Parts: sequence; C-alpha cells; structure tokens
Amino acid sequence: MRIVLMGPPGAGKGTQAKKLAEAFSVPQIATGDILRAAVQQGTPLGKKAKEYMEQGLLVPDEVITGIVRERLKANDAEKGFILDGFPRTIPQAESLDKILEEMGVKLDAVINIVVPRDELIQRFTGRRVCPNCGATYHVKHNPPKQEGICDKCGGQLIVRADDDIKTVEKRIDVYERETKPLIDYYKDKELLVNIDGNRPIEEVFEEIKGLL
Ligand code: ADP
Ligand code: ADP
Ligand code: ZN
Repeated sequence: MRIVLMGPPGAGKGTQAKKLAEAFSVPQIATGDILRAAVQQGTPLGKKAKEYMEQGLLVPDEVITGIVRERLKANDAEKGFILDGFPRTIPQAESLDKILEEMGVKLDAVINIVVPRDELIQRFTGRRVCPNCGATYHVKHNPPKQEGICDKCGGQLIVRADDDIKTVEKRIDVYERETKPLIDYYKDKELLVNIDGNRPIEEVFEEIKGLL
C-alpha cells in the first residue's frame, strides 16, 4: 500500500492518514510532523525550517526531499506508507518519482481530498493538536473525551502556532499556487482519485478504504 494524500491545509489529510496507517499497518509519513519535531528539538533542520513554517511558506524543496528520501528507505516503509503533506510542489513530485524508482516500487494511488475554502477556515479555528504524540482533534467535529486533554497519551492539547487566521489564509494561497498543479501531474499519470472531504470523518475514511 503506497499512497499519497493530497489536499489543501485543513482538508483532513493527517486525520485520514492516521486511520489508514492503522488500518493497513503501514507508517504515516507526515512531513509537517517531522518538521515540527525538528523545530521543537532545535536540530539544524528545525533551525532551517522554523521561519518558513511560522510564515506559512513552504520549506525549500531540497531540504524536505532529503528527509523524505531517508525516511522512505527505512525498514518500516518497505511494505508501504501513507505520505501526508508530501509532495507539495512539482519538483518534489519529480524527486519522489526518482526515489521510488531507486527503490523499485510504484505508487498505488494519489488521493486528493477536496474541501471548499470556507469549510477549511472553520476547521483551523477548531483544530487542537497534541504536541506529545501528534494526535489531532477538533473542538466540534472530533473532540477529545476530556476538554484540552489528549485521549491517547494524556498530553495538554494546544493550538498550532501557524493556525492563526492570517497564516492560514497564506497557507491556502501557497497551496493554490504551488501544490494544486500536482492534481494535473498525477491525473496525467492516472493515479489521481478525488474524494469529497466535506463530510464526516468516518464517511470520508470508509470511502477511501473502500477504494484501496
Ligand atoms: P497542514 O496539515 O495544515 O497542511 P502540515 O503540518 O502538513 O500542514 O505542514 C505545516 C508546514 O510545514 C507547512 O506550512 C510548511 O511550512 C511545512 N511543510 C510541510 N510539508 C512540506 C513540504 N512537503 N514541503 C515544504 N514545506 C512543508
Ligand atoms: P490536514 O492534515 O489536511 O491539515 P487535519 O487532519 O489536521 O488536516 O484536519 C484539520 C482539522 O479538521 C482538525 O481539527 C480535524 O480534527 C478536523 N477534521 C478533519 N477531517 C474532518 C471532517 N471530515 N469533518 C470535520 N472536521 C474534520
Ligand atoms: Zn497525545
């Protein structure tokens, strides 16, 4: 099972990627999570990525591609993976093609989660994340059992630093400009599947699962 999950920020990529990874016993590879961990730990990668992330801009292709190459070649990704948040530009997609070719494997599908902009904005305002284990919640659509506390690990939930309205608007613009062209890229390769993401989490999940 080798899948790319695409869609604008807030579409539900992370939410679906976690469920799919569990259902198919393959790792979720989320570049946003990898970068946030690096920023938190203050590693050289984190120091490079921090400013871009805070401004809602993409981290340079060559920085992110090296990390993905290494991650995909780790043992646990041998039988498959769910890529969440990568590729985000055409050069990244071309690099991914090269990496997979080196590995002698192919993608099974690129799932594009479609959600209108208005709905995205209200998803961000309710998003809460666990800095400890990476679990994601929504105050209305996917609340934790106990307010402000992670169901999985008991961590204190927080609002992501880049989820303020100004940065969110910018991230959606960056998506439109830099990531949306990937839709045609993968359509041409006959890998693209569009999914209506403007429905409850379980419904979206069942549709994706049924498809795979
Ligand atoms: P969201 O899930 O809201 O789309 P992510 O957690 O995937 O956000 O990404 C957060 C930030 O990390 C992005 O705004 C960007 O700065 C950086 N980032 C994540 N993935 C990539 C990537 N593939 N290329 C460049 N930057 C990335
Ligand atoms: P992405 O990784 O694409 O940025 P997330 O998975 O983090 O998106 O989801 C963004 C926010 O919307 C989270 O608060 C999440 O709980 C919520 N969410 C995800 N999928 C849905 C859905 N189908 N309906 C309503 N809210 C959702
Ligand atoms: Zn947690």
